[in-house]
Amino acid sequence: MPKYHIITYGCQMNKSDSEKVAGILESLGYIPSEKMEEADLILLNTCSVRERAEEKVFGKLGELRKLKKKNQKLLIGIFGCMAQRMKEELIEKFPHVDFVLGSYKFTELPKVLESLNDNNKKIVLAEDNPKPEEVDFRIIRRENKFQAWIPIIYGCNNFCTYCIVPYLRGKEKSRDPQEIIKEIEHLANQGVVEVTLLGQNVDSYGKDLGNVDLADLLVEIHKIPGIKRIRFLTSHPRDVSDKLINVVATHPKICPHWHLPLQAGSDRILRRMGRGYTYNEYKALIEKIRAKIPRASFSTDIIVGFPGEEEEDFLATRRALEEIKFDTVNLAIYSKRPGTPAASYDDPVPYETKKKWFDELENLQRKIIYERNLSMIGKEELVLAEGVNPKNPKELSGRTENYRLVFFEADRKLIGKFLLVRIIEARLWSLKGEAIREVYL
Ligand code: SAM
Ligand code: SF4
Repeated sequence: MPKYHIITYGCQMNKSDSEKVAGILESLGYIPSEKMEEADLILLNTCSVRERAEEKVFGKLGELRKLKKKNQKLLIGIFGCMAQRMKEELIEKFPHVDFVLGSYKFTELPKVLESLNDNNKKIVLAEDNPKPEEVDFRIIRRENKFQAWIPIIYGCNNFCTYCIVPYLRGKEKSRDPQEIIKEIEHLANQGVVEVTLLGQNVDSYGKDLGNVDLADLLVEIHKIPGIKRIRFLTSHPRDVSDKLINVVATHPKICPHWHLPLQAGSDRILRRMGRGYTYNEYKALIEKIRAKIPRASFSTDIIVGFPGEEEEDFLATRRALEEIKFDTVNLAIYSKRPGTPAASYDDPVPYETKKKWFDELENLQRKIIYERNLSMIGKEELVLAEGVNPKNPKELSGRTENYRLVFFEADRKLIGKFLLVRIIEARLWSLKGEAIREVYL
């Protein structure tokens, strides 16, 4: 039987797409290969959000050139955002690539593989304004037996001035709520206990359907008996509704963890980014959520050194991190993306200054998170045991409902179960705990 190997770059949505692709391939008789060198088909699922993500793929394609030289029969395919952005250019630059499938085009894989077997001609399938196509959820090959990613909305209509995603993933398109419920019921029957609903902007869910929104969907998912935890991301700060906050506050299975990308603490920069909120509006939203849900936690994304950012703007972002005290901050230095409005903005600040700002924010966040971790010592948390600590095989790893990472000694048989864990030590990026007992939810 032919073997496949998929390498995934980028966000959770890409991880979810790779699970679909694996399912399609297995329905065609392919089996997974742990080692890339032993595969007959290698697929790269790519990301274009930052230049560095693309450079990683270019590096990997260089490696694959050698493998293809050794094995002419090896098939190499690229899908995801870079495939959509670069199309034929990928084959021109890397002639050892056999096929390129733009956004959502991986559903054509069966036909593409058949045609490659027949005549070995290169294939590029990518259309402007790509439209999502569904994959039968019964064939998806999930990485994990008890947790699942569930895309609920594809694309993005926001066009933040720095971001390439809307150009590559097309217009927002919500999935049919009945299909989503059927998929989650099917997963619950198979032992999945935690689902994470995915979208570039989950709060837009249903706007194109007209009679349903994210809050309604969450209430329906909450009724599914086997599902014990529900997460959702990413929320757009401008779109979080009072109705949604109320639903999260009153439905215990919905984890009170919010991923709310702030991007910058300066109103001038937020305006130039086209984000649609001011820092004070953002802060008021966090305060509103904290007032309703005192146990809520927050993570965010920050872009450092957006074109035209000055010391004063950077200090505003610094102040925002100090004031809000996020659980996690994904920091990234601004990366110029072709075709986006910000790519034509003046960007006079040298990279060294941006790196200095980045390091300063990173150090600040380390202090904030360590203090937060210290304050958790002695607390008892409900943790879903997710797997073995790769650095210490005696320990399991798991997450609290607030998405905090905890390591604790426990039997591997407990993976996939909920445990009450007492926090006994604060580390920089994680917590150490001791398991008290299993909890039956
Ligand atoms: N839709 C989500 C949102 O509203 O922010 C996130 C999607 S985006 C793929 C993930 C993160 O990548 C963004 O929050 C942003 O911080 C970062 N990002 C996007 N474009 C970027 C760029 N050109 N340079 C640096 N970071 C960027
Ligand atoms: Fe990109 Fe903004 Fe859409 Fe997020 S909301 S995907 S940052 S355009």
